[in-house]
Amino acid sequence: MRKVIYPGTFDPVTFGHVDIIKRACELFDSVIVTIALNPNKLTPLFTVEERIELLKESLKEFPNVEVDSFDGLTVEYARKVGAVGIIRGLRAVSDFEYEFQMALMNRKLDGDVSTIFLMPHEKYTYLNSSIIRNLASLKSDVSDFVPENVSRALREKFG
Ligand code: ADP
Repeated sequence: MRKVIYPGTFDPVTFGHVDIIKRACELFDSVIVTIALNPNKLTPLFTVEERIELLKESLKEFPNVEVDSFDGLTVEYARKVGAVGIIRGLRAVSDFEYEFQMALMNRKLDGDVSTIFLMPHEKYTYLNSSIIRNLASLKSDVSDFVPENVSRALREKFG
């Protein structure tokens, strides 16, 4: 049973995240999509409970996905749930430096947990959650970029 975790902020989940999750689901037996409760980040738009609900609804077509949240070290969480790896998405060279540093640090902290990088379809490489929050706050239609339930939740937030 090969289990991996996919940690992130998911504020909110986008089609870029879903693309990575779909690829991870095809490669591994079980994928835990897990919200990192990062105290250094500014106040998120969606609460952790809202993000969990949005993820669950968006990912219900994938039978081998679970949604969770955690605080503390990613490698400790990975070990606790029995995961062999950490999935991260690489959109562009701009992601590389930070992701490379994180992956090496995590390997130093726990040599048994590997980081696996997956690339999304090119059409999602320019997508990130903060652009979506900005567009939605300006009442722009984001339905090409996020699942339907997320689009609805954004419309409700920005009424
Ligand atoms: P964001 O950078 O959008 O705030 P997260 O903190 O939720 O996203 O990131 C979780 C992981 O998902 C990271 O590895 C990030 O590189 C990846 N990711 C985010 N958006 C995309 C995308 N559009 N395509 C592929 N991977 C992505």
